[in-house]
Amino acid sequence: MDFLRPVTWEEALAAKAERPDALPIQGGTDVMVELNFDARRPAALLDLGPVRELATWEPLPDGSVRVGAGVPYARLIGELGDRLPGLAQAARTVGSPQIRNRGTVGGNLGAASPAGDAHPPLLAAGAVYEVESAARGVRSIPATEFYLGVKRNALRADELIRAFRLPPVAGPQYFSKIGTRNAMVIAVCSFSIALFPGERRVGTGLGSAAPTPLRAYAAEEFLADAADWDGDLDEAVAGRFGELVGAAASPIDDVRGTAEYRRHALGVMARRTLTWAWNDHRKGALECA
Ligand SMILES: Cc1cc2nc3c(=O)[nH]c(=O)nc-3n(C[C@H](O)[C@H](O)[C@H](O)COP(=O)(O)OP(=O)(O)OC[C@H]3O[C@@H](n4cnc5c(N)ncnc54)[C@H](O)[C@@H]3O)c2cc1C
Repeated sequence: MDFLRPVTWEEALAAKAERPDALPIQGGTDVMVELNFDARRPAALLDLGPVRELATWEPLPDGSVRVGAGVPYARLIGELGDRLPGLAQAARTVGSPQIRNRGTVGGNLGAASPAGDAHPPLLAAGAVYEVESAARGVRSIPATEFYLGVKRNALRADELIRAFRLPPVAGPQYFSKIGTRNAMVIAVCSFSIALFPGERRVGTGLGSAAPTPLRAYAAEEFLADAADWDGDLDEAVAGRFGELVGAAASPIDDVRGTAEYRRHALGVMARRTLTWAWNDHRKGALECA
């Protein structure tokens, strides 16, 4: 197996163009498991670790944040908790301190597992992913268009994931995950919500709920219309929102849980995170009044 070690982003893109069969490796927390279990035997590994551009983040003039694909979860939590609250919450639930020190959102996107914890908050908050090739330059892909199937994404053979961009936080964001224990566990299912009170809009993201991470559009539209944005959360509205989130899922029965349990749990998480988010939204509105 060849081992390619570019130092700059341009070298990385050139290497991927020349060797589309090279498997990128960032933190290695997915790739090394696959190699160790002989689940994959790529002709070459393309080590992105030395590429410094991937390990940086920057605020953009419009208030959004652009985060390199190689920024590990531990740094997202430590440096970006206030700017990316939903994603930082999800990052806190990933693996263990060791995994959070190595693992990255870029790797989560590359793996495109329906259970990946970064996907729901990225979907809910309206993320855009930047991918690039030497031949065609940068492509910006909205999160909603990135996931194509179980562990399949929109990346082409000569492309690498460069960064993701998230709009400025416009309201409360929450993430919730159910596992068979508290840590070091793949999500049985997960849910993320983002409120945009200024636009009277809601974002959602569901994990381990279908072949791909997804948004619950009908639930979002229902809540945006039915909620009294200047008042308290109506329990019946929250309940219906939970039902619609559960209905958006098309989960499977597997060792981690049944489809029926997943649908139910998604509804519960949706209602619960909505309640937390609404309480924050009302508290913020009252403090400003
Ligand atoms: C013990 C353990 C616990 C875990 N717990 C969790 C958990 O709780 N939640 C969770 O979501 N995941 C978990 N994982 C899985 C893994 O840690 C995450 O998916 C992590 O985000 C992978 O990031 P990485 O940088 O290590 O990716 P890598 O292993 O380096 O790469 C993963 C995939 O992405 C591709 N890739 C990486 N970077 C790029 C790039 N820039 N461009 C194109 N493709 C790229 C690789 O080719 C590969 O296919 C766990 C793994 C282990 C071993």
